Amino acid sequence: MKFVKEHNMNNTTQKKICSNCGKVIPYTATCECKKKANRLRNAEKDKRKPEEKKFFNSTRWKKLRKRIMDRDGGYCQRCLIKYNIITTSSLEAHHIKPRNKYPELRWNVDNLVTLCKSCNTSIGTKEELDFPFEMPNDDERGYVL
Ligand SMILES: [Zn+2]
Ligand SMILES: [Zn+2]
Repeated sequence: MKFVKEHNMNNTTQKKICSNCGKVIPYTATCECKKKANRLRNAEKDKRKPEEKKFFNSTRWKKLRKRIMDRDGGYCQRCLIKYNIITTSSLEAHHIKPRNKYPELRWNVDNLVTLCKSCNTSIGTKEELDFPFEMPNDDERGYVL
């Protein structure tokens, strides 16, 4: 009896088109363009200095970050003030004066504002906000130790 091999959908001859660059590649492969993008992203991450990592991982920073977010009501202040949108996801505590240039202001609550990831990226290291943020004036102002 002759044996007929079933066509296997997962065999390695099957191809797919890369959603990123449109190149035809083996079905189970990762396209070179995506590998390259991953490598670049990882290289970017490695550039973060060890002391930066230590800063972001410290309990003190985590506490301060939470305090800023609580103070700002848990939403992006730029989205709210500039665009009248409530954004509650991907929030970050943004240093108005950049950490590397003003290390002494790193722990100052008056130098921090809650922003979403995209607003944080838009402002970057401009050293000032592009919306009229009024620093909340309460008893808890000042430095967090
Ligand atoms: Zn590709
Ligand atoms: Zn925002």
